[in-house]
Amino acid sequence: PGGFSAEAVRHDFPVLHRTVNGHPLVWLDNAATTQKPRQVIEALTAYYGLANSNVHRGAHTMAREATEAYEAARAAVARFLGAPEPESVVFVRGTTEAVNLVAQSWGRAHLGPGDDVLVPVLEHHSDIVPWQLIARETRARLVPLPLTPDGDIDPAAYADRLSSRTRLVALSHASNVLGTVPPVREMIALAHRYRARVLVDGAQAVAHFPVDVRELDADFYAFSGHKVFAPTGIGALYVKPEVLAGMGPWQGGGSMIESVGFDGSTFAPPPQLLEAGTGNIAGAVGLLAALRWLSALDRDAVAAYEAGLLRHAEDALSAVDGLRLVGTAAHRIAVLTFTLAGRDPLAVADWLDRDGIAVRAGHHCAQPALAHYGLTSAVRASLALYNTPGEVDRLAESLTRLRRSGPHAPPG
Ligand code: PMP
Repeated sequence: PGGFSAEAVRHDFPVLHRTVNGHPLVWLDNAATTQKPRQVIEALTAYYGLANSNVHRGAHTMAREATEAYEAARAAVARFLGAPEPESVVFVRGTTEAVNLVAQSWGRAHLGPGDDVLVPVLEHHSDIVPWQLIARETRARLVPLPLTPDGDIDPAAYADRLSSRTRLVALSHASNVLGTVPPVREMIALAHRYRARVLVDGAQAVAHFPVDVRELDADFYAFSGHKVFAPTGIGALYVKPEVLAGMGPWQGGGSMIESVGFDGSTFAPPPQLLEAGTGNIAGAVGLLAALRWLSALDRDAVAAYEAGLLRHAEDALSAVDGLRLVGTAAHRIAVLTFTLAGRDPLAVADWLDRDGIAVRAGHHCAQPALAHYGLTSAVRASLALYNTPGEVDRLAESLTRLRRSGPHAPPG
């Protein structure tokens, strides 16, 4: 490889060539979900058209083929994350299910009264609520990690909150609302000094920069396929092998057992232990295609391109009168969350939609992060590798036109 061209990759995404409300689509809702390259769409069509079968069970050709495809996807995820072996990867529905799995399986066995779970205030609700639920059940304590005004995790507070009571730190590799990319490797090393485990929510990270779970020394690493150009309903949880070996079941059912009798059951080893029932086989096939597609790109060049796009977007949005950007951490992904003076965020999103520009407005499933800025709602433009400076200019131009139009809605 060498170098990266957004214009070139755009050809792989059919949906980027449609119009919305009479305008060429500008998809700036990538933190919610990314669009799919035709390689992924074709893999799904080929699977359902020619190769559909359940895995592992039947002793026939197509069952074997489906099993091979499913396991090839697992191996691809392991390579993608730098995991030591495919068996350390558990298929899940997405990041939300991965966190719930860890809370229910690992958490129930390892948390008790007097134990702390540390969670930064900027987390997505899916990395807060599962810990709240298991903490209530086990009488452990959920400890919020405060933010700096820029939206970084306050390093002094982190050092202060860590203690011999800390069992787990759960944090995002990149924030979906502020974009913040915390110094995860250093934070994990510090947590390990207290023998705490660390779960990293990689939902917003994997599409933007290469990840190596061994270099991070993460105990758990979760991501959702649909945020990395793959279908919805499939995701992966990496678990460090020595941690995985000690984990018990969370959901019971088919394919996670060795033998079942009414006097008790014995269980399959992980990862099957944690994969009860029929998995999302087509989703895994799509995920394999997406990871192949992404891995063929020069990932460092992609990250450099996105960093340039972020700078361009910051400049363009800063020039819009009355626009306030929230989240100014030095190290972040290209997520721009903002408010426009005198305008309700939902009305802003609606205005942009009429110009064919898709952004999200609301609390972004991160109410505590917005509350840190005194907000309950904001507009978010989240960029991906196929976005261009021209699209960012269309966003800024539409916002400027909105700003100049009357009458103003009351402040939201
Ligand atoms: N964590 C983060 C940081 C996210 O951005 C998201 C999705 N917005 C999730 C977790 C949840 O992912 P999913 O809905 O795919 O389970």
